[in-house]
Amino acid sequence: MNKLWSDISRRDFMKYCAGAAAVLGLSELEFFEKVSEAMASAGSKPPVIWLEGQDCAGCTVSLAGALNPPAASIILDKLSIRYHETVMASSGYLAEATLEDTIKQGGYVLCVEGSIPMADDRFCMIGGRPFRQTVLEAAEKAGAIIAVGACAAYGGIPAAGPTGAVGVQKIVKDKPIINLPTCPVHTDHLVGSILYFLTTGGVPPLDDKGRPKMYFGELLHDNCRRRSYFDNEMFLTDWNDPEQKNWCLYKKGCKGPDTYADCAVRRWNDGQNFCIDCGAGCMGCAEPEFYGGMAPLYTAEGERSRNIMARKKAGLIPPLKSEA
Ligand code: SF4
Repeated sequence: MNKLWSDISRRDFMKYCAGAAAVLGLSELEFFEKVSEAMASAGSKPPVIWLEGQDCAGCTVSLAGALNPPAASIILDKLSIRYHETVMASSGYLAEATLEDTIKQGGYVLCVEGSIPMADDRFCMIGGRPFRQTVLEAAEKAGAIIAVGACAAYGGIPAAGPTGAVGVQKIVKDKPIINLPTCPVHTDHLVGSILYFLTTGGVPPLDDKGRPKMYFGELLHDNCRRRSYFDNEMFLTDWNDPEQKNWCLYKKGCKGPDTYADCAVRRWNDGQNFCIDCGAGCMGCAEPEFYGGMAPLYTAEGERSRNIMARKKAGLIPPLKSEA
């Protein structure tokens, strides 16, 4: 095994390779070797610039909470994170100078967390400059641009407020943007997308919403373990009723029938669990309409939920084949 990987076990690393390997038509082993070669021949750690705009830093927390391999291994050993407001040790002019130098060199991976205000630049100023301007400048010489989380992808929660918040793709129009929605970002999606770029020099195949098909190609509803209850119209109405414990969460606002994401298969927190298995409906955070278009989140009284039920009644959401 390449010395580069000595502190990340091969087994731990393979889980990041799985989706990307399938897209490239390679076995996981072949992909793993390809990544090792790419990083060994790079001569230096691939540089990353991480900008934060209108965000809660939840995506940073998601990355920092990665257990397997731990975030420290990814950040300190495999990538050179040159600028990241939340985790970098430097500050002030020194930090801004590092950002400028890295931008001049070009070829870095640009990660943007948070949305960009379009109503007025003053809603988000970093280092005395409009965040919008910083994103545009950093995008110009980036090798790859990743919109990290729902806010950077499509505007997210801030888009429901007064700032005119938009995602990166609304202002950077001459380059492909890899959108990794979900709130927060899933670490596997992020690390896997970066590895794909490092291995191939390109962006993974994207769907019509700019999301990697390898992570957002299937409807969450089709992989949900409560699906048979949806098909049989057994909807949970009372969390305190043990009999309803595993029933479908549609009446508690679940938007799984309208959400493309691999949460039910990949799960979260190192594969431990995900929203629906915790008893909370899907909020549709992988879709461009999140948050405003998915609200109300915890009841089925909104237009979105009514539309789901209307499609079910019309036979447009047929029962899974195995149950038919
Ligand atoms: Fe699962 Fe939600 Fe679909 Fe019910 S509506 S089956 S809880 S994804």
